[in-house]
Amino acid sequence: MKGVRSRADLVFTKAKIAVFVDGCFWHGCPEHFFMPKTNTDYWSTKIGRNAARDKAVNQTLLDKGWTVMRVWEHEDSSAAADRIEAAWKQATR
Ligand SMILES: [Zn+2]
Repeated sequence: MKGVRSRADLVFTKAKIAVFVDGCFWHGCPEHFFMPKTNTDYWSTKIGRNAARDKAVNQTLLDKGWTVMRVWEHEDSSAAADRIEAAWKQATR
């Protein structure tokens, strides 16, 4: 089961870029999140908490001068890679 981690999926230490690949369900993707029909209270609390944690993690990293990039699992991976590469080039220029 894919849960929510607070550690980045990809880290570019020199460029200070942290990349997270967020699951559509677990992170409440605006396009793909669906509320399960049972235990609605549980799930809305759980997903809400995940989103709050994502924000807190982003803030912690930003405070340390990192660039945080979040990629939805539904995103085209080569487009995401281009986006990350562009940020990396800018950071290491
Ligand atoms: Zn999605």
